[in-house]
Amino acid sequence: MNKINFYSGPSILPLSVLEQAKAAIDDFAGMGLSILEISHRAKPFVEVMDGARAMIKELMGLDDDYEVLYLQGGASSQFHMVPYNLLNGTETAGYIDTGTWAHGALTEARLFGEVHVIASSKDSYYDHIPKTWDMSGKPYKYIHITTNNTIYGTQWDIASLQRLRGQTDTLVADMSSDIFSREIDYSMFDLIYAGAQKNAGVAGATIVVVRKSILGSVKWTLPKMIDYRVHIENASMKNTPSVFAVYCSYLVLNWIKEQGLKNLYLHNERKAQRLYEAIDDSKIFKGNVAKEDRSMMNVCFTAHDRALEPKFSELAKTKGLVGIEGHRSVGGFRASIYNAMPESGVEALIAAMKEFEARL
Ligand SMILES: *Cc1c(COP(=O)(O)O)cnc(C)c1O
Repeated sequence: MNKINFYSGPSILPLSVLEQAKAAIDDFAGMGLSILEISHRAKPFVEVMDGARAMIKELMGLDDDYEVLYLQGGASSQFHMVPYNLLNGTETAGYIDTGTWAHGALTEARLFGEVHVIASSKDSYYDHIPKTWDMSGKPYKYIHITTNNTIYGTQWDIASLQRLRGQTDTLVADMSSDIFSREIDYSMFDLIYAGAQKNAGVAGATIVVVRKSILGSVKWTLPKMIDYRVHIENASMKNTPSVFAVYCSYLVLNWIKEQGLKNLYLHNERKAQRLYEAIDDSKIFKGNVAKEDRSMMNVCFTAHDRALEPKFSELAKTKGLVGIEGHRSVGGFRASIYNAMPESGVEALIAAMKEFEARL
């Protein structure tokens, strides 16, 4: 049976990307060698690395003030790398706490300076995105947000992002689970980071996009592997990059370009809308978060009667729907419907929900 992949990350990839990746394991770029065994300095791979970095800038519509890096250590390593590079011990950064990942980021930042939590939805189990922010502790060196909260299924809307941008000189975003999911003015952000394994490739590569002018102001000496400037100077080849993961990301970026960000955005909106409609129409299931903050990428829901949840899991399994269980800290269900999820996948989930309801 064909499986439909709703995993939250690592996650679904376009079929064409999987096929190209397989072919490169046999023979990469006509080298007569597998991509798994070539030097990262081999010209065809240097072209992939440079091509992927340029493609990210192109897709985001960013100019030469920005640099793009492929790093390792996941989005989680950016939790310390960002403040290490930006925040002198005596300075203050503003963080908005909208979920487990956002909280992880602000906890690490406290090692490097003062952190003000300028808004939080923690007390309501992260069920919404706060729309007002406490700016009284200004000046903030930067403000950090998580644009999409993968575990809870909330996402910043564009108008709120713009409003926040108007109140800070430097905006930093963990975009791990909604990068390239929508058309957006990426120049709103001074630093964007994302683990590639959700919407931009496979595990092992982390994308960092940074406006160069925000770097170089901290007084401590940065370890080389932590210093964004070192990675910029070395074109993301300071040490051995994750060759295969960067290649897979490059393939995904090319696929995104073919589809067009605008089309993907419309596609993602339509998928999410259909699924939320089915949840709202259902007598069994309900959404977990404020409607206006619902994520287009991670659709989280529970059953009114929680005892029914294992039964729906069983049914979903028989339909080949994989990875719909909610994060272990939340329970319920989470359907991750990233760019590569076809509308037919969402239809299959909706059909399973309706069948489940009809059977009861
Ligand atoms: C998955 C995720 C992370 C963690 O990413 P790693 O690459 O595993 O470190 C951080 N932030 C968000 C928003 C995520 O979705």
